[in-house]
Amino acid sequence: LYNTIQDLKGSIRVFCRVRPAGTTGDSAASCLNLGTDGELAVYDKAGERKVYRFDRVFGGESTQEDVYEDVQTLIRSVMDGYNVCIFAYGQTGSGKTHTMTGSQVDDVRNRGINYRALDDLFALQAQREGETSYVITAQMLEIYNESIRDLLTEDQSAINKLDILSTQPSGLNVPGATQITVTNTSDVVTMMRVGASNRHSAETKMNERSSRSHQVLTIIVDGANQATGARTHACLHLVDLAGSERTDKSGVEGDRMREANSINTSLSALGTVMHSLASRSKHIPFRNSKLTELLADSLSGQAKVCMLMHVAPESTSHGETISTLNFGNRVASV
Ligand code: ADP
Ligand code: MG
Repeated sequence: LYNTIQDLKGSIRVFCRVRPAGTTGDSAASCLNLGTDGELAVYDKAGERKVYRFDRVFGGESTQEDVYEDVQTLIRSVMDGYNVCIFAYGQTGSGKTHTMTGSQVDDVRNRGINYRALDDLFALQAQREGETSYVITAQMLEIYNESIRDLLTEDQSAINKLDILSTQPSGLNVPGATQITVTNTSDVVTMMRVGASNRHSAETKMNERSSRSHQVLTIIVDGANQATGARTHACLHLVDLAGSERTDKSGVEGDRMREANSINTSLSALGTVMHSLASRSKHIPFRNSKLTELLADSLSGQAKVCMLMHVAPESTSHGETISTLNFGNRVASV
């Protein structure tokens, strides 16, 4: 089984991915330096050096395939009944959506974790045919201003009406959310298009493509062993988090300030929950945000979690980079 290696490494892993320089038009020099063994050095204006350690650091030259290779084992364990959560964290423009979805999805090599994970699960489904029969279902939600929206609905009037029923198991705790059974890549491409067109994003001064909401793609895997009849139910949550940047830098007010406050609430709730889980604390404060409440069942017990911290290399992002790396270290260090 895929879990053996994973178990030895513990249930929370934190990676860091550095976006290539200049993709957002910023020509400032880099303030980052990759070391060996998961080290990342950050230099401030005075040349002062601070070193961070992660399970692995991916440099600007890393490919979508390189990143997928390191999360593949984790993703595959969903077929054995383990709940898995993968989060992309970082400021707007740091490469979260590139990692999760991919910037040019028409170019297959550029496809991100979401597509690769589903292709991988389909391959395992075929490989285990005759032994275990699997049904793979997808659901795509957005959390915007602490309310949950259905990104796969065709009915725009229903988009905002979802809520969490905390007594239900993983993936089924948002009654009424559209669920689509997927069997091949083309089903996935169609589904991702619907999701993208429903997704809400608003402009800020930081980046016109900035996303002020969390996108949660949930893959629900139900398996039935054909000989014994034993059943498994597990979820893979692939989360493209809202930008972690502080509000003062974006120069926002009004509605934008409300968005920013909701984002701060949920990201800090996520940090606290992860830290409590990692330190095996008795009380885990899942109820502090919709995001953590939605994922509660998939974050507890034998769940496996991976945080993908994203940073921009340019010195102009030094402050945000430090804050992202600190968040990652708080989650990782116990
Ligand atoms: P975020 O989702 O964090 O706001 P994006 O994924 O939209 O950031 O990335 C910002 C820009 O940088 C996009 O134009 C994207 O295509 C590009 N980009 C990000 N990461 C990479 C990468 N690893 N390789 C090439 N281009 C990248
Ligand atoms: Mg994005």
